[in-house]
Amino acid sequence: MRPIAILALMILPQESPPTREIADRIFICARGYSGDPANPKFEAIAVKNGRLIYVGAHASVLKLKGPKTEVIDLKNGYVYPGFIDAHAHFGGLGRFKRQLDARNAKSFDELVALAKERAAKAAPREWILGGRWDHASWGLKEFPTHHKLSEAVPDVPVFLSRVDGHAALANRKAMELAGITRDTPDPSGGDILRDAKGDATGIFVDNAMDLVRSAIPKVMPNVDPIALEAQEACLKVGLTGVHDMGVSDFEIDAYRRLAESGKLKIRLYLALSDQAGIEEVLAKRKPETGERVTIRAVKLYQDGAMGSRGALLLEPYSDKPVNDKGEPNVGLRVGDPDHLRSVTAAAAKHGWQVCVHAIGDRANREVLDAFEAAAPKDARFRIEHAQCLNLADIPRFAKLGVIASMQPTHCTSDMRWAEERVGKERVKGCYAWRRLLDAGARLAGGSDFPVEDENPILGFIAAVTRQDLKGQPEGGWQPDQRLTREEALRLMTLDAAYAAFEENVRGTLAPGKYADFVILSGDLMKVPDAELQKLHVVQTVIGGETVYTKAK
Ligand SMILES: [Zn+2]
Repeated sequence: MRPIAILALMILPQESPPTREIADRIFICARGYSGDPANPKFEAIAVKNGRLIYVGAHASVLKLKGPKTEVIDLKNGYVYPGFIDAHAHFGGLGRFKRQLDARNAKSFDELVALAKERAAKAAPREWILGGRWDHASWGLKEFPTHHKLSEAVPDVPVFLSRVDGHAALANRKAMELAGITRDTPDPSGGDILRDAKGDATGIFVDNAMDLVRSAIPKVMPNVDPIALEAQEACLKVGLTGVHDMGVSDFEIDAYRRLAESGKLKIRLYLALSDQAGIEEVLAKRKPETGERVTIRAVKLYQDGAMGSRGALLLEPYSDKPVNDKGEPNVGLRVGDPDHLRSVTAAAAKHGWQVCVHAIGDRANREVLDAFEAAAPKDARFRIEHAQCLNLADIPRFAKLGVIASMQPTHCTSDMRWAEERVGKERVKGCYAWRRLLDAGARLAGGSDFPVEDENPILGFIAAVTRQDLKGQPEGGWQPDQRLTREEALRLMTLDAAYAAFEENVRGTLAPGKYADFVILSGDLMKVPDAELQKLHVVQTVIGGETVYTKAK
């Protein structure tokens, strides 16, 4: 700060007097946590034109009440800044809600039964899609194969993704329609798993999934109802903003239309999906900032995921060091390094933010190298997931101003097998939130829904406990990497806002910012760990408007 600014601060009164404006709505009887260190606790909020004009004491807020002001009694509810998911797939959530959900399948047989049930009701040419199956939760070390599924569902194509979205299981019908034979080669950045005879087992990893996907009939989906379904799910869990990591123009048009008609309440921060010629798109198109829809990022992929051993590592996987082709198994390079460099350079030049999916330590290093070469320091480029880092690369995040956009629930989903994949030493750099923070890095928190559940409280629990919802393992997995509750809340409020260049309008509750907040049933900062999962959202407010109220 310059001396003149310090002087001005000393002369100005510390607390500006309540503005004389008349509020549209005032909210009273709150037990509020603002996230603003200058004014951490409050009892009341005043809103005008969708923005906060006062956050503070009950007596003062009443001075802003006019004859038409609506007064809402929050009945001692616990109020927090609205939650923002810094990495998610908004349209994906809406679609997912309509597809087969195998999260609760307790065995492969249960998954097969679910597919059979759907197939019985399938329309002609319909594919059974969805998934979120997790073979690790069935106690299987290796992937299932298609045989049982193909026997149960012989005539309807089935293609179901694994929980991380980086592998999927096809039945025989789907493989037939996709023209997969034993002679189909593995595409670059992808694997078709094969049995001893060389036949496809039904499992397609990373880029190989496109071989099957391309056979799915292209019906132009009506995005509007899908988006509204996703919005409903988000508002219910207190999300007032979502960073959508990869959207098409088709979706952008729908979101704009919904925003104009007033139906889109949630604030979307959109990253364009990667495509051939994206550099020209970035050069021609200007980033757009709006109240509901902002488009100023581009999403790339550098590797796959750890669960399917597609994350790109510096050294081979500890639990399968040699792949099916007899080569060192270091995972998959999904993105082309030249493409990464040229997109990064184009984005830096034209004011776009780059968000790159990188999970393995080699993928993360390559992305950091590309950012170092091209990005100005204030570009706020992001690595999405930043899941397994070489310890030597951790200080580079702060040094380069790169945001580590991480998902606490990925840690608690993966902790059962993460150490098997990479061994005792390398795992120290995995899900290393505390090490990153200690090294001065900026994080942002998300869920990656629909890969994980959209409820941000589950992310909060994972961040502060590093335990599953049954409280396992005792004391938390790598407990030295846990976050404090203040840090965990910041991840999904102010830090997520910063990752979208929005820290001046969102992320805390302070005059001038959007009136986006959430009322919870209990004290997020104080209830015992084991009771956090009982907390629920009572109300969600965006721009001063109540957009969700829990039914009594
Ligand atoms: Zn994602």
